[in-house]
Amino acid sequence: MIRKKLIAGNWKMNKTSGEATNLVSDLVAAVGRSSDVDIVVCPSFTSLESVGKALDGSSVKLGAQNMHPARSGAYTGEVSAEMLRSLFASFVILGHSERRTYFGDTDAFVNEKVLAALKSELKPILCVGETLAERESGSTLKVVQTQLEAGLEGVTKEQAANLVIAYEPVWAIGTGKVATTDQAQEVHAFIRELLGKLFGAAIGNKLRILYGGSMEPANAAELLAEPDIDGGLIGGGALEARSFVDLVKAASASN
Ligand code: PEP
Repeated sequence: MIRKKLIAGNWKMNKTSGEATNLVSDLVAAVGRSSDVDIVVCPSFTSLESVGKALDGSSVKLGAQNMHPARSGAYTGEVSAEMLRSLFASFVILGHSERRTYFGDTDAFVNEKVLAALKSELKPILCVGETLAERESGSTLKVVQTQLEAGLEGVTKEQAANLVIAYEPVWAIGTGKVATTDQAQEVHAFIRELLGKLFGAAIGNKLRILYGGSMEPANAAELLAEPDIDGGLIGGGALEARSFVDLVKAASASN
């Protein structure tokens, strides 16, 4: 089963609109015609429109970092799936550990977002992953299973084909501590098996599972060589054109 690799950049709360456009112009010039790796950039809401315009005509796709599940209404400061679609976003990161930790996103709320995103034809990049304490207490797989099952409740088989899952051990995000290939592959294989149970093996084998957590050009090749690691969700390494382009190249070379 061949799954096309996917490299997604999560720019978090970085870059003004002008800075974002400069970065994406460099990316488009370097890898904007990539066809053997799917590329997604997820700027902050304020840069979605300018980045979307800069991506026009390239193969790089636009994603958002979060959304609210309601279609519209009195939710000050929030953004709906429809608003994202109107700016030509096609992906949305949901359940990132920073949202869970700092903004109280629960599994149930993440699930509402996943369902609303799918309904609006946005592809969720659903993030799951354990804390250091959870890993050390041996509950990694249990935590990942709970987040995945709760986050995907009510998703139909038909909708499931549009999912991307990101395994992001919380202790590896922005810390420079990367999971070993064995640690990452173990969880990725477990996630794939679980997806197979939820949606059938054919879909489980088709869905892409990204690794996220201090992935950089120097460690990407060995992670991407693992059978169930289908790409990366990149934070720090996505903020500079050269490292992001090198990550795309590493994904291409791993095909
Ligand atoms: C992330 O926040 O999704 C992430 C993986 O960050 P970093 O690459 O900086 O660890």
